Amino acid sequence: MTKFTDLNLAPKVLKAIEDAGYESPTPIQAGAIPPALEGKDVLGIAQTGTGKTASFVLPMITNLARGRARARMPRSLVLCPTRELAAQVAENFDQYTKYMKLTKALLIGGVSFKEQDALIDKGVDVLIATPGRLLDHFERGKLILSDVKVMVVDEADRMLDMGFIPDIERIFGLTPFTRQTLFFSATMAPEIERITNTFLSAPARIEVARQATSGENIAQSVVMFKGSRRDRAASEKRKLLRALIDAEGEKLQNGIIFCNRKTDVDIVSKSLNKYGYQASPIHGDLDQSQRNATLEKFRNGEIKILVASDVAARGLDVASVTHVFNFDVPGHAEDYVHRIGRTGRAGRDGKAIMICEPRDEKNFADVEALIAKEIPRLENPLGTVAEETPESDEATSEKPKRTRSRRRRSDKSDEVKTADQAEEAQQDRSTTPPKSEPKPEPKSDHSADQKPQHRRGRGRKEDEKVVGLGDHLPSFIALSFDERQAG
Ligand code: AMP
Repeated sequence: MTKFTDLNLAPKVLKAIEDAGYESPTPIQAGAIPPALEGKDVLGIAQTGTGKTASFVLPMITNLARGRARARMPRSLVLCPTRELAAQVAENFDQYTKYMKLTKALLIGGVSFKEQDALIDKGVDVLIATPGRLLDHFERGKLILSDVKVMVVDEADRMLDMGFIPDIERIFGLTPFTRQTLFFSATMAPEIERITNTFLSAPARIEVARQATSGENIAQSVVMFKGSRRDRAASEKRKLLRALIDAEGEKLQNGIIFCNRKTDVDIVSKSLNKYGYQASPIHGDLDQSQRNATLEKFRNGEIKILVASDVAARGLDVASVTHVFNFDVPGHAEDYVHRIGRTGRAGRDGKAIMICEPRDEKNFADVEALIAKEIPRLENPLGTVAEETPESDEATSEKPKRTRSRRRRSDKSDEVKTADQAEEAQQDRSTTPPKSEPKPEPKSDHSADQKPQHRRGRGRKEDEKVVGLGDHLPSFIALSFDERQAG
């Protein structure tokens, strides 16, 4: 097996790798580092989680160790599709250059131009940027790209999804023809193939197998969920999450809950703590020392539940995570594989449970298509209709409600309401009287996709008529045309 010491990396880089605790290079690293060090173009077909970031950062910084940057003329450029990814690459860069004197600037939205200009003016070795922001700087005349020796395009397939390919082509055109290009994509769509044929010169092509798509030792399931009302869906979803956690009982020794949005990471974490679960948030907005401290506590068992965003959890390598909860279906199917891969490591059994809302259906279909199998549907532990009183009224010691089997719509009339549901129906009537019978959505397969039962024949007597404008018609409306003429 290849060792890092076989790869001709700078001794200071090797030392940083040792500090990171990496034992041996991953396949993409073993394949990409040697040609990259020789100055060759590299086409890496690999997805996140394979160690691809280090596969370009390590050779880049080894080569950049010689020479110095000139003002406004970065020596290397890393283009990333999103701010989060750019920030993640910048973090990796800091980690691997800790024993070196290389400078970097991160050009992403949300950071003032002034601050970024000041860094560029001094001269940077590595510029990590999103394409739009980089071009903004260029157009303001603050950046000269003619000294770029290495250009990295990371996650090109996401660039394509996000419409950045024209920007990328333009940036290629602004850098010297003689630059080295390290190009990474998880897939090779025809458009990506075209770009690589145009801008890469005789690249070393390294393709690594997808991560084991869905390890056989990970038991996966999904709960289809729809809130009883729009304004209650969020708190009901959190209640469902708690019920799913409770249902696991002692089997849940530690778990990671993934949310798509940073704001949800915070909300879910706070809410869990409120209900007596020990949880901590981790996302890209928390500073590195906070994140490290949280990760350390999770590793040593002080924290049982970590609520995380994808980016923050990337550096997380804990051998024995018993459970992964997907609070949302990830927007990129590959993130699902990445997320659930946090459990069931090193041959252990793991469990991955996901909540899917109607709005997630497309993403969910993508996930199932990627892993090429159907994820078993789990009954909603709160029953078919996930209802709850507003979160602030809930008791902290709630137990999951009885489990009900999934039903077809035609079975709805047989359902028995719980006391809570009846109470909620009462609340509902007093706030928004129902206007009409909810129509069934014939195609939906969600067990929780049914409208709350209390709307059916409880809010208004069956024989009451609904008058469009209310019962108080303005009198002129009742007048005929002729009468008005006469009046
Ligand atoms: P990436 O695919 O670049 O997003 O990396 C995924 C994760 O793997 C990161 O958290 C890295 O810290 C970690 N990693 C990268 N290279 C190695 C390695 N050789 N051994 C162990 N972990 C690694």
